[in-house]
Amino acid sequence: MKINKKINLKSLSKDEIITLIEKRELPRYRASQLIHWIYDRYASSIDEITEFSKDLRNFLNEIAFISNLRLVKSLKSSDSTEKFLFLLEDKQTIESVLIPEKDRLTLCISSQVGCAMGCRFCLTGSGGLIRNLRSYEIVDQIIAVNRIIQTEAIDNNHIPTFVRGGKGGFSGKKITNIVFMGMGEPLANFDEVVEALWRIVQLIGISKRKITLSTAGIVPQILLLSEKAPEINLAISLNATTDEVRNTIMPVNKRYPIKSLIDTCRKYPLQPGRRITFEYILIDGINDSLDDAHRLIKLLEGIRCKINLIPLNPHPGSDLKRPLERRVLEFQQILLKNNLRALIRESKGQDILAACGQLRAGHTL
Ligand code: SF4
Repeated sequence: MKINKKINLKSLSKDEIITLIEKRELPRYRASQLIHWIYDRYASSIDEITEFSKDLRNFLNEIAFISNLRLVKSLKSSDSTEKFLFLLEDKQTIESVLIPEKDRLTLCISSQVGCAMGCRFCLTGSGGLIRNLRSYEIVDQIIAVNRIIQTEAIDNNHIPTFVRGGKGGFSGKKITNIVFMGMGEPLANFDEVVEALWRIVQLIGISKRKITLSTAGIVPQILLLSEKAPEINLAISLNATTDEVRNTIMPVNKRYPIKSLIDTCRKYPLQPGRRITFEYILIDGINDSLDDAHRLIKLLEGIRCKINLIPLNPHPGSDLKRPLERRVLEFQQILLKNNLRALIRESKGQDILAACGQLRAGHTL
């Protein structure tokens, strides 16, 4: 790979951008302009920063550059979910999924190339970990998709009506919510993910209340997250009520069994009005019994939480099956009757292989 000795502006934090500008004896407001052009106007090169004089652009071009994810492929679902496959500098690929809903535009982002966790219901897990993403590669998924939204809305009349302003005009709307539920286990790439979280809040300007990080349960990092990162929402991918079952579908459980995970959730400092989300993928004959529902109630006793029940959307080649709808409803009813908040959430974009890792798996460069 060609080594670029220039500074990648997207790899710098806010303070580092200010330092870069001040060291070159440029006025400090140039740092704010630079941040605005990269994170709000999605400039893909220094030459696009037309607010700077040609001389200043030439000067910056000599010492720095702006990296960009390259869009390889995108697929749009009939439910408006849109999936993007991006190419990284080292030719690895990652996925991001845009999920438009009535009042929000959520982007599901990746934190690693591949994943070491090996969850049985997940295609990404079956390929193992290739590498961690750098913080700027995590953040760049948001910039890249915002840029696509902006460009397509202007060029192709492409974005769903709610993203447009009155009378069909583009309102300048952009991604409002972020979920770390794409490829990778975010807490296994802790430092880069924490850095990315700060940049999403401070540089992109998305509220910490609108960011959710989902973990398979790397127990020691959960409390560390509450100390080091902005106060984002926590989701736990639980998916079983006994160690025996969880060990078989989520190998991470052998290291951090259910009791240690739930005990840590009890200690997790929750802001007023916030809840921990427990994701529970329902798999036919594995974790969907009515006994499981009752055990789940006991496990979560006293935790301010909500539960997302997700009927499995099996990936090609998987031996796991989706439960019957009747069973999903029965499971939910038991939780509701015991005053737990339980929603049934369908995986979005089933017609475009939107489950984690499926677009990437189907692509060869
Ligand atoms: S579900 Fe998440 S943690 Fe589990 S293997 Fe897939 S990407 Fe990794």
